[in-house]
Amino acid sequence: MRAYNFSAGPSTLPLEVLEEAQREFLDFSGTGMSVTEISHRNKAFEAIVEEGAALLRELLNIPEDYAVLFVQGGASQQFAAVPLNLMHKGKADYIVTGNFAKKAWQEGKIYGDAACVASSEDKTYTYIPDLDKIAFREDTDYVHICSNNTIFGTRYVEFPKVKAPLVADMSSEILSREIDVKKFGVIYAGAQKNLAPAGVTIVIAKRELIQDPLAICPTMLKWKVQDENNSLYNTPPCFAIYMATLVLRRLKKLGGVKEMSKINEYKAGLLYDFIDNSAFYTNNVVKKYRSVMNVPFVTPSAELDAKFVKEAAQNGLVSLKGHRLVGGMRASIYNAMPVEGVQALIAFMQKFEKENA
Ligand SMILES: *Cc1c(COP(=O)(O)O)cnc(C)c1O
Repeated sequence: MRAYNFSAGPSTLPLEVLEEAQREFLDFSGTGMSVTEISHRNKAFEAIVEEGAALLRELLNIPEDYAVLFVQGGASQQFAAVPLNLMHKGKADYIVTGNFAKKAWQEGKIYGDAACVASSEDKTYTYIPDLDKIAFREDTDYVHICSNNTIFGTRYVEFPKVKAPLVADMSSEILSREIDVKKFGVIYAGAQKNLAPAGVTIVIAKRELIQDPLAICPTMLKWKVQDENNSLYNTPPCFAIYMATLVLRRLKKLGGVKEMSKINEYKAGLLYDFIDNSAFYTNNVVKKYRSVMNVPFVTPSAELDAKFVKEAAQNGLVSLKGHRLVGGMRASIYNAMPVEGVQALIAFMQKFEKENA
């Protein structure tokens, strides 16, 4: 039986997509070869890369003057690529709202004057700082945010309005809600949360910003070079790009990001409402900033938390253990998690409460 997989990443993928990949695993697109065997210069594979980029453009309404790239090294590699492509004046502001946002800031400091201008670490990242009160500095190359905080379960409701280009790590929420790409200079996202298996990272970058990477920037990290080569500068992660394209096709068929966003709000609403109406389970995030993708919660004790995770797994609800930094549980309910999965989780939570309260 297929489990309901609540892993934060790599995470669950749509069953139809897995089945389709399985059907054509030995003979991709009439080539007589597996997609894991063919050359990345094969026309059939080049068509997949092109289609994937075109679908991203369509689904996120990405303007023509933005590059859409498939790169490697995960979102963590982009923590370095951001300053290496953008830090001409050597100065950037970071908002630190979680573990990944902090890592991005620390990586930025290797290359220049990267300042943390606001942080929610004082309350274990359970909120997003008041954007109107942030003293952004003058003459910065960019402002960096992490739009959805995977470990702590918060998300930006609005985005900062800043003079410098806004750079956003959207790894754990890309394609989950509508965004206005024009408001961002660069968006990047490791695909293994909401889009594909591990191995590929999406970069969406305004072309005028990426023409002059720093002299020390490794060629592989130059977005300009990746753009000029249609993400085929070297051997790309072919299988992950292929899977991303299948997931994007399905998303289009389901009605696109707007429709997916409605379903996501509905799923998250079910779970948060249940938690809020329970005296047994708690979510500590300031309500306004609750993530629609990652829902952390606890029972009254660490012992019960451990018991919950164990018994949930025995009932086919897996990977619910919270991140080691926060403990408790975390349900990641990305695009590919069906409503039935969330309903099954809630039914189990009710039963567990009855037996253990
Ligand atoms: C998972 C995650 C990362 C790290 O991604 P890698 O691909 O493992 O480098 C960075 N940022 C956010 C928001 C994430 O959720």
